[in-house]
This record gives sequence, C-alpha cells and structure tokens, in this order.
Amino acid sequence: MNKKQGSAKVCLLRCPDYSSEQVEKAIAKGLKILNIPIRGKVVIKPNLVFAHAQKAPSAYTRPEVVAGLLETMKEQDVKEVAIVEKSGVGVSTHVMFRRAGYRMLAERYGVQLCPLEEEEKIRVALNGSRVHKSLLLSKKMVEADTLIFMPKLKSNVLAHGLTGALKLNIGSLDDRERMWHHDHLLDEKIVDILSAAHPQLVVTDAVEIALGGNQMTEHGYPLGLIMVADNPLAHDLVAAKLLHLDPGQIGHLQAAIRRGYTPVSLDDIEILGDYPLAEITNKTAGLSTGMIRVEEFPSPLSIRSGTPYCTGGCHGIFLDWLYMLNDRAPQRLSRFPAMPVIIGRTEEEITAPRMLVIGDCAAQSPHLHGKQLRIEGCPPTHRDLILQMAFKTRVFAPFIRADMVWDSYAVYPWRKWLKRKNRKVGQSDEPEGLRRNDDKVNSRF
Ligand code: SF4
Repeated sequence: MNKKQGSAKVCLLRCPDYSSEQVEKAIAKGLKILNIPIRGKVVIKPNLVFAHAQKAPSAYTRPEVVAGLLETMKEQDVKEVAIVEKSGVGVSTHVMFRRAGYRMLAERYGVQLCPLEEEEKIRVALNGSRVHKSLLLSKKMVEADTLIFMPKLKSNVLAHGLTGALKLNIGSLDDRERMWHHDHLLDEKIVDILSAAHPQLVVTDAVEIALGGNQMTEHGYPLGLIMVADNPLAHDLVAAKLLHLDPGQIGHLQAAIRRGYTPVSLDDIEILGDYPLAEITNKTAGLSTGMIRVEEFPSPLSIRSGTPYCTGGCHGIFLDWLYMLNDRAPQRLSRFPAMPVIIGRTEEEITAPRMLVIGDCAAQSPHLHGKQLRIEGCPPTHRDLILQMAFKTRVFAPFIRADMVWDSYAVYPWRKWLKRKNRKVGQSDEPEGLRRNDDKVNSRF
C-alpha cells in the first residue's frame, strides 16, 4: 500500500481555455513545481465515464488536457504510454475513446488506447481491505512504472457530491466487479481500489467543470483551472474546498483518512501555483453540486427512503436518473404519474394502485399494497434503470437514442465477446464472490 507521508502538494494553475498553448504552459508549470519524474511504462487513467456531443459534452477529461501532458512528457525518460479506462457500466470504452476525441492522441503521440473490458487483466490480492479481498485490474496498470490519474473536476451525487482522484478509480474495474457492493459500502470499496491503484501524479481538467446534475449529463461552467498534485487524497481535499463541500461529509475521503492515508486536512497540504484558492472559490460560490437526499428532489413522485440509505447505490442511482432528466429533458419530469417510489426497505404501510419499487431491499418491504413495478438489483445499474423506467413508466431518459442503444446493446457485447475469444487462458473475468478459484489469486501486492 502506498500511503504518502509528509507534506503533500497541490498546484492550482490558470488555464483560461483548451488551447494547446495554455494547457501545456499550465501543466509544465505544475510538473516543474512538483518535480515528479515520469518514466518507464506510463499508464494514464482519465475520466471517460461517458462522452456525447449533445447529451454529455462536459462529463469527461478533455483530450486537449491529455495532449498537454503528453507534450510535456516528451523530454522525460518514457518508454511507452497507455491510456487505460472503463467507461460507465454497459458502455463501450472503445466507443467513448472515439466520441471523446481520444483517437487523435493515438495518431499524434503513438499512445495505446486500452479499453479495460478488452484488455488483459490480472487479479491482485489486497491487504487490510474492507470490501474486496482481491481485484481484477488491467495488467498494464499493475505493471506501470508511473501511474497518472487525470480526473475531470465535477460533482457526483453517488459520491457525496465530489468525483475527483479517489472516485476515478471505480473506472479501474470492469462492470461486474464495479457493481459489487456499489452500495452503502462504496466508500470503503473506493479505498480498497486505492490500495492497489495509487497514482504518483494527478493532473485534473478543471478548465471547464461540470456541476449540479447527473454525473454524465450535467452542465459545464468555465473555471479556467488545471490542478497538478502529487497525492490523490490531497487533491480531493482541495477539490472539495473548491466546490464548497465539507470533506467531513465526503464518505470516501473520510474512509481513506480512517485507514491511514494522508494528509488528513487542508492544513497539511502545500497549495502552490498561480491561481489563488480564494479567487477560485469566489468563482464557484453559489454553484450547486446537487447533493440532496433523493426524496427531496422536486417531482410529482412520492419518494420514500427506507434503509439502508445507499448514496452510492439505489438512492444515489435513482437521484442521478432524476437529474439526467432535469439536465437534458426537464419537461419530462412533469409527465410522471403521482405514484409512490420505494427505495430501501421500509416498514411503512403504503397503499396505492401502482408503485415503483427500486432495488432488492425495497422489494423486502412487508407492507406494500398495490401493483409493484419492480426494478431489481443491488443496486440496479444505470443502464437497467434507464431501460426499465422507459418500459414501466413511459418516461424516456435522454440516453434512449438510436446511436446509444446501438453502442450499448450491439457494439459493446460484440467487442467483449470477440476479445474474450482471443484472451489468454487463465484470466478470469468473474467478480469476487462468484469466483471458484480464490486460492489462485495473484499476490503481487
Ligand atoms: S439493494 Fe439498494 S438499498 Fe439495498 S443494499 Fe443494495 S444498493 Fe443499498
């Protein structure tokens, strides 16, 4: 486990736009201040959870920022560079590389674009973990000499309002392992992944940030910032401050601190660069991250939260789905029938002609009287929720479009099948808990 000790450094650097000149200047300045060697086999992990010109234009790390980093790396002792990512569940990373404009990086810089679901992986054992005993990670990522995280600074209601360097690691897992305990244990799960995939460097695209809605469809705001940090937790503590979030309320940051990661507060971080923190927080003042409880979301639905309350599970995913409509098709919210929605197990007596029952815990509620429209899972995936809500309530999320359905239900399974056919024997994709040969775990960590 790589727990950093001593003073952590976070550079806040002006970058008014995505021009190559501005981006390179900012990143070069940050790297010079931090003086971190980038060498050997380099893996870059960006945020490509989703990219779409109309529906999700601000959700991902822009290729201009990755290009800026690659330019500055030309003078370093770098052997090869791979960009490793897994986009959202059920989403083809291969397609997202194209939609986000990353093919240009492969053509111009010769970097490898590596969709995790198609890559060779190895299972690594974890020590002192809470949720996973082991993780199936990209072989390239595990064997990298330098691991660089490149988050997009944005809000995420599944992660207490903040998605930064620590939450980025969820995209280091393939779909099934990613959804395993994506519930009230998500915070501990994120720290488990950090123990196996800990970056030496974080370079963040905050030239345009995205806030206040669904993690994929929320709208962008110009902030003109690039962050360069030598410690992911320090990065996220500063990022929380920039978005006016209380780090004490961000579960995965607190879980990391409880498990010995440092720094534990802003006081232990050296904040450097040419863009004063106070100037940035003045710009972000009044911007909302949208972090509310799901039953507080205004709609004709009567939402009842049972237990457990899973910010990273059923409650968060349903809230995220509501925000998706709010972001890109707000008129559809008023089309909901005024029906109860039950999320989590409740003891409440609820009688209605029809009700929506979200997730496996809600389905165990003993006093529900009326026709139940169930969406199963622990938690249901975004993909299932989007599809089932369309079937069951006739309310179509903005992602139900011919191009996205084709990508999700044709390209994605086909490419996975093709790659699996050619994969080396012995590389299991089965998630933890379903594997039969736990004793064959590779113990590199
Ligand atoms: S079914 Fe939903 S509410 Fe229950 S534990 Fe799983 S994610 Fe949480």
